[in-house]
Amino acid sequence: MNQLRWDPTLREWVAYATHRQDRTFLPPAEYCPLCPTKPGGFPTEVPRESYEIAVFENKFPSFAPDASIPDEPGSALAPTAPGRGLCEVVLYSDDHDATLATMSERRIRNLVWVWADRYEELGALDFVDYVFIFENKGEAIGVTLHHPHGQIYGYPFIPPRPAKELSAASEYRAKNEGRCLHCDLLSQEREDARRLLVEGEHFTAFIPFYAHFPYEVHVYSRRCAPSIADLGAEERRDLASVLKRLLVGYDSLFGFSLPYMMVMHQSPTDGENYEGIAHFHIEFYPPNRTADKLKYLAGSETGAGAFIVDVFPEVTAETLRGKIEGR
Ligand SMILES: [Zn+2]
Ligand SMILES: [Zn+2]
Ligand SMILES: [Zn+2]
Repeated sequence: MNQLRWDPTLREWVAYATHRQDRTFLPPAEYCPLCPTKPGGFPTEVPRESYEIAVFENKFPSFAPDASIPDEPGSALAPTAPGRGLCEVVLYSDDHDATLATMSERRIRNLVWVWADRYEELGALDFVDYVFIFENKGEAIGVTLHHPHGQIYGYPFIPPRPAKELSAASEYRAKNEGRCLHCDLLSQEREDARRLLVEGEHFTAFIPFYAHFPYEVHVYSRRCAPSIADLGAEERRDLASVLKRLLVGYDSLFGFSLPYMMVMHQSPTDGENYEGIAHFHIEFYPPNRTADKLKYLAGSETGAGAFIVDVFPEVTAETLRGKIEGR
């Protein structure tokens, strides 16, 4: 059952996906459902002996294309709606032990093309208003499947965080002769330079002045491209190269494969025009404050929505920059 319930106090949808409990297929613990199917072995999600990059629909999705009108009508104050949308899983490689950081730049580039393709295809569906491409990596983030993979959610609404960003950018544009908020932030970061990490030909990685996590990194397209699908071949190539350098740096920060959440913010696909408002960028939120201390989203962050960070971004940027080669 995929159902949306409206929270009128925060003015946002909460998605319920209760079919996850219907899971009948319980594979043995050592068995990875994302690895290629070995001859004579357990059938995995990919019935092939090998693959480059694979995309498939999540079997237990948070949103489903055929979600029906809920039996529970809710009320005028707190209505319900069908949890209509799409959830895909993107396998980065058939190598179980690979990570984005250890993959070749060529493979990361192919992945960028896959992301762009999925953005376009899911975005074209009339019930998908926002294509959200993301990756949860590491046990610290609650990931149970270690096989290198990311996810894509096609939401039937613009989720709150991108919506907040878009409304800030739209207000900024209206007050500043049509200027893009993200373009202006980016030029400020490049001019200041203290938090810059990687300068590619078309992309810049930096820790934002107002980072919510000690090692939060934003990767901005220098051109005001609304979405990943708008990027040209050279831009896609450069994005792969900047990501590779950043991720290798991330892994040498504490000497282990750094857990993180990676999310992409870009133009909604609700049919409106977001030119000069949405500016394609990727955000990374690693939970580590140090090698053995994690930043938890506790009372202030979760209950008040106010982040408390115990180190300035200028300091963490200097440390992380020292770990990045060939900037
Ligand atoms: Zn695997
Ligand atoms: Zn822009
Ligand atoms: Zn953003």
